Amino acid sequence: MRFCSNCGAPVELRVPAGDNLPRHVCPACETIHYQNPKMVIGCIAEWEDRILLCRRAIEPRHGLWTLPAGFMENGETVAQAALRETLEEANARVELAAMYSVLSVPHVNQVHIFYRGRLLDLGFGPGEESLEVALFAEADVPWKELAFRTISTTLRHYYGDRKAGAYGFHTGEILPAR
Ligand SMILES: [Zn+2]
Repeated sequence: MRFCSNCGAPVELRVPAGDNLPRHVCPACETIHYQNPKMVIGCIAEWEDRILLCRRAIEPRHGLWTLPAGFMENGETVAQAALRETLEEANARVELAAMYSVLSVPHVNQVHIFYRGRLLDLGFGPGEESLEVALFAEADVPWKELAFRTISTTLRHYYGDRKAGAYGFHTGEILPAR
């Protein structure tokens, strides 16, 4: 950030009184512009033994496969974000089950959260941000063409749980690729 979004003056990077991290501070109007992690919310949409994946029509990772997911908006709940993203990216309607995974991605300042959900019908199809949308059985999941490590991590847990006969709740962190 270079300019104050409140008054337009150039901002300074400094540690405000009583704080312990540098922030963008406006010397003109004294607004402190906090920057915090963004939430990415998605869904494992299930139809019998298959799940819905979307092939990305946008960067980053254009052409790779992902679970329907995207940035949470102000004014919505986590569950609403999961339903909205599943509808926007895959034109798919789901009934959400339990929250399934929460993965911190600190090097990009994001937290990714996935629900499990039951696909309500087969009328899905690619939204604006998807090239194609399809149901995949476990044997057909394109592991080497998944867009993000939060997706592969979540799906590894998912198939592990399914084999074990019970779905858990998984938390963890994704570290920078070496
Ligand atoms: Zn200002």
